[in-house]
Parts: sequence; structure tokens; C-alpha cells
Amino acid sequence: MAYYQYVIIGAGIAGSNAAATIRKEAPESNIALIGEEQYPVYSRVNIGKVAAAHKQPEELLLKTEAYFEQNTIHRIIAKVTSLDSEAKTLTLDNSEVLQYDKVLIATGGRARKLTQAGSDLAGIFSFQTLDDAIQVRDYIQDKKQITIVGGGFIGIEFVELLSSLGKTVNLIIREDWYWKGMIDQIGGNILHEYLHQRANVYYKSEIQEIRGEGAISEIVLTSGEVISTEAMCVGIGLELNKDFLPEHLCNRGLKVNQYLISDNPDIFGAGDIAEYYDILHNSYTGGGTWANASLQGMIAGYNMVHPDTMKSFSLIPAYCPKTSLPIAFVGSCRLGPEMQSIVIEQGDRYVQVNINSQNQIIGGVVIGDSAYMGTIRKWVETGITIDTIVS
Ligand SMILES: Cc1cc2nc3c(=O)[nH]c(=O)nc-3n(C[C@H](O)[C@H](O)[C@H](O)COP(=O)(O)OP(=O)(O)OC[C@H]3O[C@@H](n4cnc5c(N)ncnc54)[C@H](O)[C@@H]3O)c2cc1C
Repeated sequence: MAYYQYVIIGAGIAGSNAAATIRKEAPESNIALIGEEQYPVYSRVNIGKVAAAHKQPEELLLKTEAYFEQNTIHRIIAKVTSLDSEAKTLTLDNSEVLQYDKVLIATGGRARKLTQAGSDLAGIFSFQTLDDAIQVRDYIQDKKQITIVGGGFIGIEFVELLSSLGKTVNLIIREDWYWKGMIDQIGGNILHEYLHQRANVYYKSEIQEIRGEGAISEIVLTSGEVISTEAMCVGIGLELNKDFLPEHLCNRGLKVNQYLISDNPDIFGAGDIAEYYDILHNSYTGGGTWANASLQGMIAGYNMVHPDTMKSFSLIPAYCPKTSLPIAFVGSCRLGPEMQSIVIEQGDRYVQVNINSQNQIIGGVVIGDSAYMGTIRKWVETGITIDTIVS
């Protein structure tokens, strides 16, 4: 059985940064980096540029195979199917078993799939990997009418991307306005102005069935309306890759403390998979951003090597979708009973702040001026109250 001091599962930005950090901090150690994708780490945030044929796939690579060889990081292209935390072993999909001292889970998520009849027809795509982007690029080349499903970050970027390629775009979302769970209706109206110049938008719509002879040609909504389409891109969220992990270590994701250690001291977590303890807000939360995954990878790698001088993770997440309309989300943005939103500007620039029960600003959204996210970030950092801002 192969043995490694440090095993990293998931070779995206979190896992690859962790491997690089471990190599720097423990030059003599032996490290395995296991990932099921064939490519070394690449810029996942830019796969849209490959789908639009603006970039070649290799232009997205952030590290080469030679880098891993030179740094003696043993890259294994395989899927981990189970992990035995007592025996400290894990099993690959080729049945190989590996022994570890410490393991980092950095497996991110996979695109959620539609389940309606017809969802397996050709021409229906998820959008999570470089291979997805290559498939979309090749399929849509000669297609004129494309439908996007989902009202999140991927959906709006697709609208921009496909309309810029001169395609006729349909957008199907469940909600009454875009990002309803994160943006006030006033913000939703601004987004509508942007969206409807680029797509036929179907709000409050659900798919009943997808039809076609071998490949998609029609979508039937639950309202009975039928939309003709030649392809469909689906962006309806992520399912975290935690199936192989012991259940007691997981909640929504792999639960880790501020040092990115799970309830098992030899199992660490970083990136989208990690449900980490946020020391700013004293609660567990998930990341879902590139900066988050990147920094967590480095910190987890460091902490795996230096148990006596561990660093804690803290970062106010921020996300700017790649759209010509500047949009920025900062800090906590998912509205719910414990978080209220207040619109403080709605002219040329829309500014919404999100406050907790103590009236402290814990997040916000800006449309029309993404540079303003720096101001919101400062408010979140300092825990300032809404009354102070308004006065
Ligand atoms: C199209 C798109 C656009 C985005 N745009 C932005 C943006 O503008 N800004 C931003 O901040 N974020 C953006 N994101 C999100 C960002 O890319 C993620 O937050 C980040 O990539 C997470 O990194 P990660 O290393 O945690 O996980 P991932 O990048 O998901 O990597 C995890 C890796 O683990 C592998 N894996 C999973 N399970 C196993 C297993 N059992 N065995 C072996 N390997 C496994 C996966 O195949 C994958 O390669 C975007 C995401 C997408 C898809």
C-alpha cells in the first residue's frame, strides 16, 4: 500500500495551493495530490472564455505538469471513493488504497443536474469544468437559439457570454426577479433592464419536460408554454463532493474550525467543500469564491505542517460576476429571517446593505459601481451599524 505523509484530495485551486505550501514548509515530505480531472489546476472562473472561443483551454492552466514533477508532488488522476478515518486510508476508483498521516479535503462541488424527462438529451450542458466549456464551445458553434436555466452567478454570465456571440438567448428562472434571495426588488428591476436587452426572460418559470429527437429542440414549462431551443446551459447550483467522507464529519459541507481542521485532527478542509467557522460572525459558513478557496488552501497546507503555530482563516468573501454591468456582492448576502436588507442608494448606483439583528452591516450588494465594494467591505470589517452610516 502506498504511503504519503500528506494527501490532498481535489486538485483545484484550494488543493493545488495546499500542495505548494506543504512543499515549501516541509521540503523533505512526501505529498500526493489526487484529482479526478485530467488537467493540472486551471482558472475555473474563466472557463466561459473557452466556451466563447476567446481563449484556448491551455491558456487557463495555472501550473504545468512539469511544476509538479520538479516539486515532487505526486499527482494522481483518480477519484477517491472512500475514506477510512480510523485506519487513515483512502480508496481510489481503480481500487488502489493509500495510507496517509494527514489528509486535506478540497473536493469542491459538482453542477446540480436537471431531473425532468428529457434531461439526458444531447445539447444540455452543465458548466463546472474545463471539459464542460470545451463541449459547450464545440456544440454551440452553429446554433442560434440557446436557453439558460438558473438565476445565479453562472446564469447571468452565460447571458452576457452567449448574447455577445450573437445568439438568441432565453433565460428561465424560478423567482420573480433575478437573485431574489439576495437582492431587493428595486435591484431586481435594474437587473431586468440589463437582462432583457440580452435575453427573453421567463420569470416564475419551471421546466416540465424537455423534448427532442436525440437532441434538445423544445422546453415545455409547467405553465404549458413551449420554448424552441437548440441547446441548453444549466446553472442551478452545486452539490458538494462529500459522498466519500464519514458522515459524522459533515453538515452542509465538511465542518472545520477557524484553523480548517475537522472534528478529526488529521482531516483538514479547504475551498468550496469547507463549511468553516467564521471568526468575524461567530458562525459556520461556506465559501464559494475563488479567493476563499485559494487562501484556505494555503492556510490549510501551512497548518498541516505546523500544528504548533497554526494560522486562523478569516476573509470577507466578495464576488463580482463577469458582466458588463458592474455588480459586486460582499460579505453575507443570502437574505433570511436573521438578516434584513436596506437599500441606501438607488440612483446611478444601487447600494444595498445587509444587517443583522444588532443592526450591524454584515454584507451588501452594489450594482453600477463595483469599486464601491471596498466601502462595504470596510463596514463589514469594522462591524459598523446602519444608524452610523445613515447619520
Ligand atoms: C463558471 C464558473 C465561474 C466562476 N466565477 C467565479 C468568479 O468570478 N469569482 C469567484 O470568486 N468564484 C467564481 N467561481 C467559483 C470558484 O471557481 C470556486 O469557488 C473555486 O474554484 C473553488 O475551488 P476549490 O478548489 O474549492 O474546488 P474546485 O475548483 O471545485 O476543485 C475541486 C476539484 O476536486 C475534484 N474532486 C472532487 N471530488 C473528488 C474525488 N472524490 N476524488 C478526486 N477528486 C475529486 C474535482 O474534480 C475538482 O477538480 C466560478 C465557478 C464557475 C464554475
